[in-house]
Amino acid sequence: MNPPANTPVFPSRLPNVGTTVFTVMSALATEHHAINLGQGFPDFPCDRKLIASVNDAMLGDRNQYPPMIGISELRHGIAQKIKNLYGHEYDADSEITITAGGTQGILTSILACVGPGDEVIIIEPAYDSYRPSIELAGGKIIAVSLEARRNERGQVASYEIPWDQLANAIHSKTRLIIINTPHNPTGMVWQKADLDRLAQLVKNSPALILSDEVYEHMVYDGAYHHSVASHPELAARSFLISSFGKTYHVTGWKVGYVAAPAALTKEFRKVHQFNVFTVNTPMQYGLANYLSDPSHYLNLPAFYQTKRDLFRIGLSKTQFALLPTPGTYFQCVDYSALNIPQAKLNEAEFCKWLTTTVGVAAIPVSAFYEKPTESGVIRFCFAKQEQTLSTALQRLQNL
Ligand code: GLN
Repeated sequence: MNPPANTPVFPSRLPNVGTTVFTVMSALATEHHAINLGQGFPDFPCDRKLIASVNDAMLGDRNQYPPMIGISELRHGIAQKIKNLYGHEYDADSEITITAGGTQGILTSILACVGPGDEVIIIEPAYDSYRPSIELAGGKIIAVSLEARRNERGQVASYEIPWDQLANAIHSKTRLIIINTPHNPTGMVWQKADLDRLAQLVKNSPALILSDEVYEHMVYDGAYHHSVASHPELAARSFLISSFGKTYHVTGWKVGYVAAPAALTKEFRKVHQFNVFTVNTPMQYGLANYLSDPSHYLNLPAFYQTKRDLFRIGLSKTQFALLPTPGTYFQCVDYSALNIPQAKLNEAEFCKWLTTTVGVAAIPVSAFYEKPTESGVIRFCFAKQEQTLSTALQRLQNL
């Protein structure tokens, strides 16, 4: 132990923030040798071709600072992909910036446009980085909640966008509205009519939009992802966030991007350059090369749908009630009707018990709300090898 030192006491910028639930549950899973279906990351390797591309870049001496906004090849590749999939033409030089993962893109977008007292609307359950990012900017959080529809047994059957609450929350002080589709944790996917409705709501307001679309390539049953980039009115006021970590099974690389109209990107880059300045060079070259083959993301829905279906079929033999999973690599279940005493535990306690005693880690959906909100719903991640999912299912089927 160091001797007592006179470290000055100062007011915390984030007094209510602890360690994120994903880190906490992963640590608990490791400690108890549980199968980790908590934190969202694949347990299978990425494509060797992608690694070879990065390796080539490193050996080719692409190891010094890249341009602050990201390398041209990658930005142009992203612009092309967005144009092909969603129809919007972003200018690769003035409207696309490479970030250190989606989370940095989110924080930097918020710092770039939200000032003290500005209102930011979030829709809970919401990804856990949104709130602290807004707080750091001095913004005022206006939280509305997805509406949980329940079945005749009282279990959560689906979540709906709370249009009336949203409409009431939007006014002249609204600086930013954060949306997330496909949605973490519920798997809900916005439809075209939803984007139309949002566009109608913001039409006469100064509100910008931050659209977190990091699960854009995980939409199932032949359905489409509806990006703000497919909606010209929304695209004109949106920061669009995506992540290569999710798409190419490399969550540890922390590379993503933000596409936004030039006026927004200009402000974004002012913050970005003093936040991370830029993102590591060889990864960018490797990703640019890999991105030139669209099959690497076009195959993703089929790839993950197989896992989703396998997991859902296995779960249907348990007492959990399954929520629909039209998108993401998360499966939510309602445990409230389980015929065991633990069904009465709150979500965090239930997940702890499931991890330490049953040997399967999950994430409590309550962690995505600020106010204590117990719905009896937990989230499993199915971005896992078949063997991992099968072993987890055996354990869950014994409950
Ligand atoms: N996005 C991942 C999830 O929801 C976690 C990322 C993280 O741990 N920060 O599980």
